[in-house]
Amino acid sequence: MAESTDVKVREVSPGFHLIHLPLPMKPTIVNVYLIDGGSEWALIDTGMSTPESRAAFRAALDQAGCRPEQIRKIICTHHHPDHFGTSRPYRELCRAEVFLHPLEQERVANYLPHPRSEETIRFFERNGVPIESFANVPSLGEFWKDTYAPAEPDHDLADRDRIPVGERAIEVVWTPGHAPGHCVLYFRREKVMVVGDHLLPKITPHVGIFSDQAGDPLGDFLASLRKVEALDVETVLPAHGAVYHDHRKRVTQLLEFHEYRMQAMLDLARGRPRTAYDLALEAFDLAPQSPYQQQFPATFETLAHFEHMRRDGRAEKVETNGRIVWRATPAR
Ligand SMILES: [Zn+2]
Repeated sequence: MAESTDVKVREVSPGFHLIHLPLPMKPTIVNVYLIDGGSEWALIDTGMSTPESRAAFRAALDQAGCRPEQIRKIICTHHHPDHFGTSRPYRELCRAEVFLHPLEQERVANYLPHPRSEETIRFFERNGVPIESFANVPSLGEFWKDTYAPAEPDHDLADRDRIPVGERAIEVVWTPGHAPGHCVLYFRREKVMVVGDHLLPKITPHVGIFSDQAGDPLGDFLASLRKVEALDVETVLPAHGAVYHDHRKRVTQLLEFHEYRMQAMLDLARGRPRTAYDLALEAFDLAPQSPYQQQFPATFETLAHFEHMRRDGRAEKVETNGRIVWRATPAR
C-alpha cells in the first residue's frame, strides 16, 4: 500500500467523503466524492490517471473504510481528464458500473492522442490566432495522452434520472455550459449537491467555444446556473475548492460576473472591432508572448461571450477574407 501520510479524506456530511487528489497543473487538486449508501458505495468523479493520483485514491479508500468492490457505481460529472480520466482503471478495480452523459461520451476522443486537425487549424486562423507561432504546441490529445484512461460507460446520464445508491437517491441535473453534457448530482433528502465544475466557490469554470459546432455554451451555462439556483441545497460539494453552503449567492455572483465581462468585452469591440484573439489579449491582459495555456482559453472564452451577445443582439460578427471580426451592434 502507498504511504498514506499525505492522504486527504474527510467526511464532509454524514456518509459523504471528500477525497483530495493531486493534479499536475492548476488547479492542483481535484475533489472526488465517495458516497456511503449503506449496502453500496458510489464514487463521483475519478481524478486524473497519474500514479500519484491513483496511489492517493487507494490510500483514501482505506482511510474511509471502503473496499474497492463496495463501490458499485462510478458517476462522472463530465468527460474532462480530472473528472473522468481514471474511470477505466477504477471500473476494473471496483467492477463498478460507469455513468456519463452521452454528449460527454462523444467528446472523450478529443483527449485521446491525435494530431491537430485541419478543421481546428482553420478555426484558429479564422479567429485570428497566429497559429504559426504555436506550431510546436501539442494537440489536446497529445498533451493528455498519459493521464487519460476513459472507460466505456455502462449507462447514459440524462436530466432528471434517479440513481439509487443503497438507501440514498441521486437526482441527475443536466447543467450544460462548462461542458455540453455536464451534470450536477443532487441528493434531495440530504440537501447535498455535488456540482463538479459547474458552481465552484472561488474560480469560474472555463466556458469556451473551440469549434464551429459549439452553439452558445455561455447561454447554456447561465441557464444552468438558474436551473440549480431553484434547488433546495444546504451543502455544496465542488470539484475544486472548499465545501460551501450558500449556492444561491454563488449563482448570483457568477451571473453578475459574466454580465460584467460581456459588457467589458463589448466596450473593447466598440472602440475597435477585432478578432476574438486580439480582443482576448486585451480583455485578459495577455502579452502576445504569453503561453498558449493562457492565450487559447482566453480566445475560446472571448468567443463564447461574443457569440452569446450576438444571439441577444448586442454584438455582430463580420467575416472578411477568412477572418471573423466582432463589433458592437450599431445603435439604431
Ligand atoms: Zn472540467
